[in-house]
Amino acid sequence: MNIHEYQAKELFQKFSVPTPPGRVAHTPEEAEAVASSLKTNHLVVKAQIHAGGRGKGTFKNGFQGGVHLVKTPGQVRDIAAKMLGQTLVTHQTGPDGKLVSKVLVAEAKDISHEYYFAILLDRTTYAPLIIASTRGGMDIEKVAEETPQLIIREPIHPLLGLQPYQSRNLAKRLGFTSAQMRAACQVFDALYRMFISCDCSLVEINPLALTPGGEVLALDAKFGFDENALYRHPEIAALRDITEEDPREVEASKYHLNYIGLDGNIACLVNGAGLAMATMDIIQYHGGRPANFLDVGGGASEEQVTEAFKILISDKNVKAILVNIFGGIMKCDIIAQGIINAVKTINLTVPLVVRLEGTNVELGKKLLQDSRLPITTADDLNDAAQKAVAATK
Ligand code: ADP
Ligand code: MG
Repeated sequence: MNIHEYQAKELFQKFSVPTPPGRVAHTPEEAEAVASSLKTNHLVVKAQIHAGGRGKGTFKNGFQGGVHLVKTPGQVRDIAAKMLGQTLVTHQTGPDGKLVSKVLVAEAKDISHEYYFAILLDRTTYAPLIIASTRGGMDIEKVAEETPQLIIREPIHPLLGLQPYQSRNLAKRLGFTSAQMRAACQVFDALYRMFISCDCSLVEINPLALTPGGEVLALDAKFGFDENALYRHPEIAALRDITEEDPREVEASKYHLNYIGLDGNIACLVNGAGLAMATMDIIQYHGGRPANFLDVGGGASEEQVTEAFKILISDKNVKAILVNIFGGIMKCDIIAQGIINAVKTINLTVPLVVRLEGTNVELGKKLLQDSRLPITTADDLNDAAQKAVAATK
């Protein structure tokens, strides 16, 4: 799960990570009021979407940039009016862009240098890893590609945590002077404490800024939270903004379905993540494109299967549905009955191909055939994928 920059600001305050004062606004008037309350003529207006690259983004109405530095509350109002209700396209949003319904109005800081600083979980060592660079404010992927020597990696021992010598080393390698060292190390420590206590999967500050006065502040933030740990953080779970998420995925999560929306036209309903991956591969192999990844799990109930079907057919891109179930724990005849009941309760508008394998498979197939529903049965995964691809043509 991700959160907005303005929400991250509130978390920063809790963990004493310095960040410029500012607040969220939903209307141009509110933005102006926030700007007036900040009592400064260094102001910034920032579109709030769950995507980066806003500064260099373009609104569909032609307005350039989702981050603007201005001087007066009146200018803040004008910029907010140009952003709110508009769609911002950045290199991270995809061509459809994202609707901007909130802006952050904050104090703009004088910046003497922008750094990149991130903490993530390194899958190869199963431990936290700090990634930092003096080339902040720009795309870190680009820095990694063009100047890999400018990427600093600092692995953290999961039990010992970030050690003071590691923070000092990092600050030194980033070029902080001894006078700036304390401020830099305090921020690194605070971010690491935050990463651990909030069960983050990612904390990315780009840029972490140094001001001429020697302050070190977080000017931007991207947070990822481990969803399996969210139950421990109801206050973070409450920050979820479902308007930023794929509506199909929001619906699926209500029924504990492992669903990821894709842009093909063959919907898949599968039990087991491995089988789901294999199903998607074989669809692709036969020239089709999966519309989703959907693992209904080992013990899917009839209700879950019905809800899964509803999500699949509500996707306007879907031209066929392929059900690929291995009846191991659940028997094929029970699964078949579940599919039949589900199909009867929904209005099936696209061809449905079902491949069952495992215990009581013959009985399951017979039930499907006898149901007189427009269901095509398949013998194996190959056969099923070919039939599903053919059904979309
Ligand atoms: P994005 O990464 O989505 O483009 P950022 O929040 O990183 O958005 O803003 C882009 C750039 O705008 C930053 O690299 C920084 O130079 C400038 N900026 C952002 N917030 C502030 C601020 N509070 N004060 C001064 N400059 C800022
Ligand atoms: Mg940024």
